[in-house]
Amino acid sequence: MKQTILNKLIPQPMQLTVQHGMHRYSANSVFVIATDLPDAKDITGKLLKQYFQILPEIQQTAADPDIAGENCKLIISETEIRIAAASADGLRNALKTLRQLAEAHHDCNTVFPCVTITDSPAMTFRGIHLCAFPEVSLTELEKNIRLAAYHKFNYAVIEFWGTFPFQSHPELSWQDKQYDRAELQRIMEQAKDWGITLIPQFNILGHATNSRAISGKFATLYSNPELEHLFDPSGWCWCLSNPVTRQVLTDVVLELHDFFRNPPYFHIGCDEAEDVASCLYCKQKNFKDLFADHINWFHALFAKRNCRLMMWHDMLVRKDDPRWTGFVASGKHLELDGFYQELPKDILIADWQYGIAPPDKRAAGWPVSEFFRSKGFETVMCPWDSEPDMESMAAYTQQVGNRGMLITTWHYLYGLKYTSFMLCAPYALWNPANNPGISLSGRLTLGKHMLQICHDMGLTRYEDCGYTAYQIAPERYPEPIH
Ligand SMILES: [Zn+2]
Repeated sequence: MKQTILNKLIPQPMQLTVQHGMHRYSANSVFVIATDLPDAKDITGKLLKQYFQILPEIQQTAADPDIAGENCKLIISETEIRIAAASADGLRNALKTLRQLAEAHHDCNTVFPCVTITDSPAMTFRGIHLCAFPEVSLTELEKNIRLAAYHKFNYAVIEFWGTFPFQSHPELSWQDKQYDRAELQRIMEQAKDWGITLIPQFNILGHATNSRAISGKFATLYSNPELEHLFDPSGWCWCLSNPVTRQVLTDVVLELHDFFRNPPYFHIGCDEAEDVASCLYCKQKNFKDLFADHINWFHALFAKRNCRLMMWHDMLVRKDDPRWTGFVASGKHLELDGFYQELPKDILIADWQYGIAPPDKRAAGWPVSEFFRSKGFETVMCPWDSEPDMESMAAYTQQVGNRGMLITTWHYLYGLKYTSFMLCAPYALWNPANNPGISLSGRLTLGKHMLQICHDMGLTRYEDCGYTAYQIAPERYPEPIH
């Protein structure tokens, strides 16, 4: 019985005990919340109505002194449902668990097993990086944010690839692929209620025209060839010598931060800036000075807003340094040695490692994170789709007491890989000690949760439902869906 109940939960709780019997939920159910939160009844009432369409009377009692932060306790007996929480996030976590436990039956809308669950996350920053490509509809983006929140990620970094409807510089996005601003605003407003903080990302170094190296789709330059001077000759990196570049970037990062409701982090990207500082003007300058001045400008800008910068690590470490052999390092400039000393220590270093080192080397530790930590920086480790890496990084995060991790998904957030990101990753981030890995029952639960999210959004169209638009690739897409 215990295993059947665990199979319904993503992620797995820290402690679960199963009692005999079931709770038949109705308007007469006794529902108690033990908390000092002033708006606890409001939060609970709204979610119970949304999840189960029935709202019993909610009683509020004194808080449980053993429960803090995002932790929660959920006790379901035949006669009562009781939640103890100290924060809105903790309360929402318990209610998400409650929803995942629910079963529908012929004689009663909703039935819960009798259980006691004591829960707390293994790490406080549980992030997922989501790409808003022109191919990703706003519906799909919203679905993924909602499901990530349901699986107890508490941060989502959103990177727009020429799709953000800028008011300050609309020329930076595709004219025909910008999201509807009002709809995007609604997502920004509602995300907090889903229990997730959205973090904007804008690349201030490479990936400059919102394009990927394999596409040649420079979002800015097809419609605005006169703006080529903002970029180094290949169009891949911002030109750091051009004072107009800094003004444009300042405008757009501040617009994004405002639009996202002033979150505590802003991601400035900075990965894979292959030919940064390659124009004739930049070549005349010292790269270290140019780069440091650039980063420090944005750091000061966001410090005034009490907002921490996040950045990918790879341009900060040299590719030819033997310490990083087998690990991701992209820096090529000789002046990069000791560059980290030029950076403020409160920049959160996002150490992305995509499993190019042999497994025995990865199992021995994560040297890039270790390096930055030893120099006084905080890091979050960022796996891609490798489940062993997710597990190893989660164990490392717990072992060294890091704040958390950021899962990256890129252009693979569909089909079979979806299960790595939305099943295996939440298992690893919430409770690495009890990660059952991917199984058919886990996949079935993932599908059920997607169904619940689609219900919340009122989605019924075939292509909108589930986590893959098509079960068989239509002929116009020659690549098979994995
Ligand atoms: Zn330049």
